[in-house]
Amino acid sequence: MRFAHIYVEERAFGYPLTEKILAKIPDAHVIKIKHYKDVFDRKRQDAPLQKEHQALIIAVRDGSRIFKGAPVCQSFGNKNFYYASSMMNCPFDCEYCYLKGMYPSSNMVVFVNLEDYRADVEEKLREGPMYVCASYDTDLLAMNSLTGHADFWKETALDHEDLLVELRTKAAVDVKDNIPNVIYAFTLSPEEVVTDLECYTAPVSARISAAAKAIEAGAKVRLCFDPIIKIAGWKEAYEKLIGEASSRIDFGKLTDVSVGTFRISGDYLNKMRRAYPGSKTAWYPYVIKDGVAQYEPETDKEMQAFVCGLLEKHIGREKIFTWN
Ligand code: SF4
Repeated sequence: MRFAHIYVEERAFGYPLTEKILAKIPDAHVIKIKHYKDVFDRKRQDAPLQKEHQALIIAVRDGSRIFKGAPVCQSFGNKNFYYASSMMNCPFDCEYCYLKGMYPSSNMVVFVNLEDYRADVEEKLREGPMYVCASYDTDLLAMNSLTGHADFWKETALDHEDLLVELRTKAAVDVKDNIPNVIYAFTLSPEEVVTDLECYTAPVSARISAAAKAIEAGAKVRLCFDPIIKIAGWKEAYEKLIGEASSRIDFGKLTDVSVGTFRISGDYLNKMRRAYPGSKTAWYPYVIKDGVAQYEPETDKEMQAFVCGLLEKHIGREKIFTWN
């Protein structure tokens, strides 16, 4: 891993996962800190510069760890929809990522008190079956070899059949398991978007191969065409992408597909614009509707309908979930 500096909360030193992570990056400079927020929430940080020299922060998460799903996220028809935040920030660097407006820092935080997350899940399960997106504020699968967080969620799912976990990724992960209540969600974007806007992520052809292999292994696989980005020639780009995906992936075996145009909370967009004055994505003249920045309604509708239309040639409409 490329972390040269690792900040460790004093109390995190007692956790076996902390020792495991530190042992995997023996050359990193370790700095003891009192609380992760002393580093992560500092004022006047240069987030773009930090991304180039990303530090790791190992910490213990108090307070809320599992949250009700936000309105801009898709529930896929699940009633008790939550997302978990066991890591903050991502090894990848997508220009459009809402985390750029959400966090004051680009450094990554890994929480090591995973047993507390398990206890939170068990408490919520008392109210009924639940669906947890475990990899929203990060990419757990891309980080799994260092942190083991994706493995933790898989083990928790194995122990609780009324828990459904989604692990979303832009990595080309080699899925070998077929746990019935774990969904591997591969985000697919046209090559142009990957090259220009999804820095450090796996090439889209590799993600398609990984999704195809995961299906062969019997895993539950979701394809996410989300966010759809309005690039020049977006129709041709998405036609090519879905053509390639459908020629290599058995769409009949997909759990489902998600489709959503780019959207971001207006508040995050303002922060993103301040932190990234050169970002074309951030400075697009979005329309703000109910506090959410999005493409003009006509464009938004057209993009979503066009992509759904392409997908309907390969998968039933009932398996296509849209954001609005
Ligand atoms: S992979 Fe997801 S979480 Fe990571 S930078 Fe890209 S959009 Fe953000």
